[in-house]
Amino acid sequence: MTATPHAQPPDFPSTEDIDDAHDIVYGHRPRQVIRWYCACGDAYPCWELRFARLVLEAAGR
Ligand SMILES: [Zn+2]
Repeated sequence: MTATPHAQPPDFPSTEDIDDAHDIVYGHRPRQVIRWYCACGDAYPCWELRFARLVLEAAGR
């Protein structure tokens, strides 16, 4: 019975690993997403608001 221990190579992390890690850290930065919500609870601007604006725009001719 031969046990094959998965020992880390002595050069872990290698230069390549570190480069990869840098790429991953760079490509996985957090993104802040700002969401606007209408007072009626829908995503802003909601359909009703867009329609109301169209009406007001048309009336303002
Ligand atoms: Zn609304």
